[in-house]
Amino acid sequence: KTDLRNDQLESWDRENFFHPSTHLAQHARGETPKRVIRTASGVFIEDRDGNKLLDAFAGLYCVNVGYGRQEIAEAIADQARELAYYHAYVGHGTEASITLSKMVLDRAPKNMSKVYFGLGGSDANETNVKLIWYYNNILGRPEKKKIISRWRGYHGSGLVTGSLTGLELFHKKFDLPVEQVTHTIAPDYFRREDLSQTEEQFVAHCAAELEALIAREGADTIAAFIGEPVLGTGGIVPPPAGYWAAIQDVLKRHDILLVADEVVTGFGRTGSMFGSDHYGIEPDLITIAKGLTSAYAPLSGSIVGDKMWKVLEQGTDENGPIGHGWTYSAHPIGAAAGVANLELIDKLDLVSNAGAVGGYLNSAMKEALGDHPNVGDIRGEGMLCAVEFVADRNDRQFFDASKKIGAQVSAKLLEQDSIIGRAMPQGDILGFAPPFCLSREEADRIVAGTVRAVKTVL
Ligand code: PLP
Repeated sequence: KTDLRNDQLESWDRENFFHPSTHLAQHARGETPKRVIRTASGVFIEDRDGNKLLDAFAGLYCVNVGYGRQEIAEAIADQARELAYYHAYVGHGTEASITLSKMVLDRAPKNMSKVYFGLGGSDANETNVKLIWYYNNILGRPEKKKIISRWRGYHGSGLVTGSLTGLELFHKKFDLPVEQVTHTIAPDYFRREDLSQTEEQFVAHCAAELEALIAREGADTIAAFIGEPVLGTGGIVPPPAGYWAAIQDVLKRHDILLVADEVVTGFGRTGSMFGSDHYGIEPDLITIAKGLTSAYAPLSGSIVGDKMWKVLEQGTDENGPIGHGWTYSAHPIGAAAGVANLELIDKLDLVSNAGAVGGYLNSAMKEALGDHPNVGDIRGEGMLCAVEFVADRNDRQFFDASKKIGAQVSAKLLEQDSIIGRAMPQGDILGFAPPFCLSREEADRIVAGTVRAVKTVL
């Protein structure tokens, strides 16, 4: 296939390919980047023209172990040759899916009972919502159904998960959010409305807002709260100290379940195996996807806590088998990729590397740009780092949105230094989420490139 000409591919692309999260009209006019990725290794991807780019966002923060891992490729090929598919319905399993379920539970936070496998983060969160509704129906509380999410949270693109997502772009013109979903404020201390608040006061304010929302809706109508341990697509925002303890306190008092969406943070990105462990979160359900296979094959999961599991079992004694399953639940090829991926993470101690080199990247970025007049905030945790730009750091004035400063800086970073960072979809935020195998030298390259890009644009 390599003898296909680029212009041939481009015209097929324009004629046939409906791209996700893309400005369709701009793409049709040829205004989106024309890049066909051919191969990749470590933290570098390479396009068909031979350009080598440092992927400092690990795809969509998913290729956690880095590209080109032969161990995972071999495991996938072996599985495909031996058994490409069998379903997991009515108790069937494969060696790969059963082994992976044990490996996931061995690494999961305490009080977790089972893992349900899906395909991607969105369907895993759809599963979670259905399990929560089922749970409350079995408990005889059919009114307790609403889910609270946070503005700027990202939980997927389905009907319910697109609703849970608190970003305008994902609601606009899609008739979302659905009525069972409601939102509370994002735990973004930098963007707090009342600048006089200390971090502690801001945390108390977040808890009070949640409490007020529950009071308005009625606690007996609220089933669950969902949140990412570190707000991801909404701007890479680690929680202020004490945030999760304060939120959990409110939820416990009102008998509201907690879903930790660990699609980004699961399997090491914060420098701990799970963000829940990192921040002392005690969830009832955990969503996993990306890092489960490092995106070598699609696979996700809902890890169900002990409290819910008992009720789910009771429900099937009363109602028969649980009526929820995908053809590809626990797909053997995804499971084989997952087993090889988790083995590799252990063997290379990549969680520690994510913490150590990620910490280095964050401090180097702060040192290089912390005093820049147009840099309002530099924040991160483990292998997550964000730089937020402002028109004036003294009074924290934001740029006019039409200037798209974040997008401009990321475009310059790519153009000048062949480094991929991600302009986050809301606000002037440049995000980094490199593979865990990033070296200190590569981290230095990211920082130096960012400094140059910021100088060029600002
Ligand atoms: N949850 C979080 C926290 C995510 O970041 C994402 C994707 O970025 C999802 C859910 C949705 O996952 P997917 O795109 O695999 O459906």
